[in-house]
Amino acid sequence: MEVEPALPDEDDGEFNSSASHGCGFRCSDDDQNDRRSQRRREICWQGCGRPAAICICPFLPPSPIPTSTRLVVLHHPHELRGNKLATLPALSRSLLLFESVRGRRLRHGCSPLLDSLSLSPSPSSPVLFLFPSLCSSRSAQDLARWAADTPLAARSEPVLVVFDATWSHAREMVAASLPFLSRFALQVEIGGGCDLGLEGASTFESDLVLRKEPWSGCVSTIEAVARALRVLEPDNRGAAIEEMLLAVLRAMVAFQARHLKPTRPRLRMRKKGQEQGECSPSV
Ligand SMILES: [Zn+2]
Repeated sequence: MEVEPALPDEDDGEFNSSASHGCGFRCSDDDQNDRRSQRRREICWQGCGRPAAICICPFLPPSPIPTSTRLVVLHHPHELRGNKLATLPALSRSLLLFESVRGRRLRHGCSPLLDSLSLSPSPSSPVLFLFPSLCSSRSAQDLARWAADTPLAARSEPVLVVFDATWSHAREMVAASLPFLSRFALQVEIGGGCDLGLEGASTFESDLVLRKEPWSGCVSTIEAVARALRVLEPDNRGAAIEEMLLAVLRAMVAFQARHLKPTRPRLRMRKKGQEQGECSPSV
């Protein structure tokens, strides 16, 4: 399901085969191939962790941004393995109150913060887990409506739990985590959740889509967090944080889009047999 991204071609002219550079001599094809492969291997270890040719450090904040919201991300063990489309590394470098948990389910012992709040809920730190309702009987509350109905004092330091994985893995992870989370956390969704009757957007249709999403309303982890922080952060700080995170995502999409072959987007129609209500009963 995951797309293996192409490394960028050096199309900025620096490595054109007939180009000369500062030494005054024309490079041989071997020299240029060596330089090209060397640049492909360079990794931005001190920053974003991506290949140097597609470094997004200029788009990251100079230091992680403090927020009122504490973020806990359960990420699937496969999600970061060689996946250059993963948005989690950029997220972790952008937000200060960020906790990453590697695994397939949340339970007691995974996160000291969640353990503490599960045993002793805080009046100002509600725990919300972000995952859309995937069937007609909606299990998730709309985050914006929840925030509007909840006094600020009762949500001044919220904890937001998100799942970073492919959609099929994320559904399994949510289901496996429910016995723990349902004791003290509320399921929320953003933007009305997903529409299983409509195909999701592709990179050709949106500057915020890194890889083809299965359904309309599905978004990447970094976009989901950006949208949620816009709602959760007090004093209108959320809009600026959202825009900063979306700028990082747009930079990643722009790098990716340069190296995709254009294809005709499929008609976004309701598929036969894919009606509302067809979902995993456990979510
Ligand atoms: Zn970088």
